[in-house]
Amino acid sequence: MQLADRSKLPVPVPTPETEHFWTGTKAGELRLQRCNDCGTIYFPPRPFCPNCLSKSVEVFAASGNATLYSYVINERPHPAFEGPYSIAVVQLEEGPRMMTNLVNVAQTPEALVLDMPLQVVFEVINDDITLPYFEPVPAPGGVSS
Ligand code: ZN
Repeated sequence: MQLADRSKLPVPVPTPETEHFWTGTKAGELRLQRCNDCGTIYFPPRPFCPNCLSKSVEVFAASGNATLYSYVINERPHPAFEGPYSIAVVQLEEGPRMMTNLVNVAQTPEALVLDMPLQVVFEVINDDITLPYFEPVPAPGGVSS
């Protein structure tokens, strides 16, 4: 994904429910929540367990490891992106799925292979928001067998 005019990017606004997530991305962490009663790990952020509705939940830093679960390639121009770009759903190692964009890889069906290993990377957008994206592992230019 090539980044064009990033001022055109729609930017999330932190809320009390999502603040831990955005504090995490600023610190270079992908933070998820875990239920203290049933152990369910979940995303997106909310103050109760989606499985058992317990309000006893904690925040922890995920590994940042994921695999490509699904994606579409958007061919329609967007001012914040250069050329076609993927909208992906990644399967986090901890269990939840997350909608994201894929970077440092060609935005083509040949390059985007389902189940390919991915790792989180971060882009600082402004003082409040750092966005998580995912890139292939190993990163392009790295050693592969
Ligand atoms: Zn629970």
